Amino acid sequence: MTTAPILLTPGPLTTSARTRQAMMVDWGSWDDRFNQLTASVREHLLAILNGADRHHCVPLQGSGTFAVEAAIGTLVPRNGKVLVLINGAYGKRLARICEVLGRDFSTFETAENEPTTAADVDRLLQADKAITHVALIHCETSTGILNPLPEIAQVIKNHGKRLIIDAMSSFGALPIDAREVPFDALIAASGKCLEGVPGMGFVFAEKTALAAAQGNCHSLAMDLFDQHSYMAKTGQWRFTPPTHVVAALHEALLQYVEEGGLPARHRRYADNCQALLDGMAELGLRSFLPAAIQAPIIVTFHAPQDPRYQFKDFYERVKAKGFILYPGKLTQVDTFRVGCIGHVDATGMQAAVKAIADVLQEMEVLDI
Ligand SMILES: *Cc1c(COP(=O)(O)O)cnc(C)c1O
Repeated sequence: MTTAPILLTPGPLTTSARTRQAMMVDWGSWDDRFNQLTASVREHLLAILNGADRHHCVPLQGSGTFAVEAAIGTLVPRNGKVLVLINGAYGKRLARICEVLGRDFSTFETAENEPTTAADVDRLLQADKAITHVALIHCETSTGILNPLPEIAQVIKNHGKRLIIDAMSSFGALPIDAREVPFDALIAASGKCLEGVPGMGFVFAEKTALAAAQGNCHSLAMDLFDQHSYMAKTGQWRFTPPTHVVAALHEALLQYVEEGGLPARHRRYADNCQALLDGMAELGLRSFLPAAIQAPIIVTFHAPQDPRYQFKDFYERVKAKGFILYPGKLTQVDTFRVGCIGHVDATGMQAAVKAIADVLQEMEVLDI
């Protein structure tokens, strides 16, 4: 058997053998030990952002988008209005969710290499008093750009409005403190910076906002008020839980703590990102974002200009050398992306750069 390639993608990503091993047991959803596992995972997650005082952690079956949709559907009343801040594909998805759910919304879009600023949000809230909620992507994974969450959150609070944060690709790696950053909902998932396997999302919902959200939701399965009430009452998931995903996430969280928690995870990803940027710069491959707004999560690179470069061919050849890359997600510029997250360290990133260099040489892409 050849060893599986390393996933340099923003989820699913490479997990440790120990995390995968935790999925070798079948758990009953009624079983006390499984319910303890769920309770422990929720506690761990709350601790990462100091959220235990003011927030509940509500897990939800499905991919990350399910949890985002559930958060908007549950916490935005049907007569609410959402201001959606956009600088990439995931921001556009937030707007699409509002549209599908029939929540009134407006959008504010900046270029894909331009963070939304607190001043923008201040002006927009000043201009439209009907807005009740603001929805924001923390790290916009379509490029890797970081939006200034604490500053924006403060402005929203000053206006007496509520904030919904998609922190899917940053939670666990970039510091967010629920005691300092006011929000009604922050959403993330099992299979990103926590290095679990994909299959469940979770929403940190502000306690009073969640308590007031009964009956808001358009959907039975996506109703976080119900999901939370049932779990609070019974200790169980409302519908069939993703048992193996929960067990894997529990094991991944133990390793997260052993590694040194958020500061250590952040440091490893920052080192990965730096090793990647340095190595690629040596090959002459330019990153799309300037360093100041680049999150250490995923890096977008300009594709080589040589006509012999084709992403599909490049991808297959790099994969044969053991690394899975990610296509670009920009409409205007030809790019590809390389993730810095997952069970991989700077040595692994250097090996990936070496594979990329060898492949570009094989392909005779000579402008590098
Ligand atoms: C991964 C991700 C999501 C969720 O995507 P799914 O495919 O539903 O898991 C949402 N927002 C951001 C910023 C992400 O990186």
